[in-house]
Amino acid sequence: MAKQRMLKFVDVDRDMPEKRPPNLRAQDFGEIYAEYATAKAEEQASRCSQCGVPYCQSHCPLHNNIPDWLRLTAEGRLQEAYEISQATNTFPEICGRICPQDRLCEGNCVIEQSGHGTVTIGSVEKYITDTAWENGWVKPAAPLSERTESVGIIGAGPGGLAAADVLRRQGVQVTVYDRYDRAGGLLTYGIPGFKLEKDVVMKRIDQLEQGGVNFKMNCNVGEDISFAELRETHDAILIATGVYKSRELPAPGVGAQGIVRAIDFLTASNRKSFGDAVPEFDSGELNAEGKKVVVIGGGDTAMDCLRTSIRQGATSVKCLYRRDKANMPGSQREVANAEEEGVEFVWLTAPKGFKGDTVEGVMVSKMRLGAPDASGRQSPEEIEGADYVEDADIVIMALGFEPEALPTLWDVPELGVTRWGTVKADFQTHETSMKGVYACGDIQRGASLVVWAIRDGREAADAILDQINAAAQVAAE
Ligand SMILES: Cc1cc2nc3c(=O)[nH]c(=O)nc-3n(C[C@H](O)[C@H](O)[C@H](O)COP(=O)(O)OP(=O)(O)OC[C@H]3O[C@@H](n4cnc5c(N)ncnc54)[C@H](O)[C@@H]3O)c2cc1C
Ligand code: SF4
Repeated sequence: MAKQRMLKFVDVDRDMPEKRPPNLRAQDFGEIYAEYATAKAEEQASRCSQCGVPYCQSHCPLHNNIPDWLRLTAEGRLQEAYEISQATNTFPEICGRICPQDRLCEGNCVIEQSGHGTVTIGSVEKYITDTAWENGWVKPAAPLSERTESVGIIGAGPGGLAAADVLRRQGVQVTVYDRYDRAGGLLTYGIPGFKLEKDVVMKRIDQLEQGGVNFKMNCNVGEDISFAELRETHDAILIATGVYKSRELPAPGVGAQGIVRAIDFLTASNRKSFGDAVPEFDSGELNAEGKKVVVIGGGDTAMDCLRTSIRQGATSVKCLYRRDKANMPGSQREVANAEEEGVEFVWLTAPKGFKGDTVEGVMVSKMRLGAPDASGRQSPEEIEGADYVEDADIVIMALGFEPEALPTLWDVPELGVTRWGTVKADFQTHETSMKGVYACGDIQRGASLVVWAIRDGREAADAILDQINAAAQVAAE
């Protein structure tokens, strides 16, 4: 069988308008589209060989019961498929959209391994949950009875929200504090809307609110409220603040106008899509329209900046990366998407400085791959005398993120951190060096993935429940 190209069947209206029959109006198309999506999901689900060695499941950080929900989907039993899928995943429709499946479930599908093209697990997961929403099967976390204990969660990203959901379902009083105006963390302001539609995220947040989660937005812990106050208010605290300090490039000219941080560029674009006033976008400072764009970095954030620039109408979009394609840290699928959309990857190039007070170009060294380093990866080495200038009107720095110094910012020196600045916590209970204080997601493991933040949040919530149940039992004795 020929290797199949992954069909994004659920995005056909947006991504494949040529599939729309010409005589149909948009409202008619909805029906055809739904039929098409169902047929496609069933077809894909029926390709699962129920192999008995579900590497897909063991390589999903949530250990989703993939073979079972694929079988139920193939049989048209979608509500049951949804029940199984949501039992292990708080936000299946989000993971279905943005997990790097090629590195997780799909990359380990036995059918993929045997060269026949993976079952498109993520797309089916998304389809099942989108259908569940349409049919009203997705219910708010309504507890059977209320408890008096309260938990304060700092950070409304996927880690904090997954924990809030688990705790609220058990009747715990939950308050989520976040310094942004909207909840969702990087789901809302980091990941672009063409990968994750914002209404999908907002729907989940509305539902958590309906389930009784209390959101305190525009509340920067450490500034608007102290960590000590939170500890006095709540029986347990979960730190789910993510990592936001952008890595810098110490190179001549780096302060020039037109050199911007990836997170600022993406946040501006996401805010614009919410209809917010974004003066830095309107002034052109954080807008790629009509510009020559150079993105520095090779991870998924870089891919998002490249693809956003294309959509904003940049005249050219280039990515500088100091290794080659095979050694790119990001998802190969994302690289392929970017290439298909017109991004030019300039492999084996490293920036060594910037030209102009308002940036005009990047001074680039050409590299070659040398001997492997301690990690086994070949180290890039500069090729003498091969420097050149890559023209640019805007340079987007996507070199990764580091944690903020929470013990200093929050005046809690007793909060243990690793040498990378992430919060030290047990990897099962997620309890930190402070009793009753837990951590999850990127602030514990470093910049990672949504699916890992969800897993951590769920595990931390379970450990917090154990803690408050044990305390309640002691009080009752
Ligand atoms: C551009 C980009 C694209 C990405 N794309 C993908 C992808 O396609 N797939 C994928 O799986 N992962 C992706 N990731 C990674 C993923 O978004 C993160 O791993 C995930 O969001 C981490 O979740 P979290 O809950 O730990 O933190 P976050 O999502 O970062 O949320 C943390 C929240 O804490 C709040 N906060 C921080 N400090 C404070 C404070 N002092 N007081 C109050 N609130 C505070 C922040 O405002 C934020 O809302 C991407 C990351 C980036 C940057
Ligand atoms: S959560 Fe992610 S890794 Fe797990 S099955 Fe879904 S798409 Fe695959």
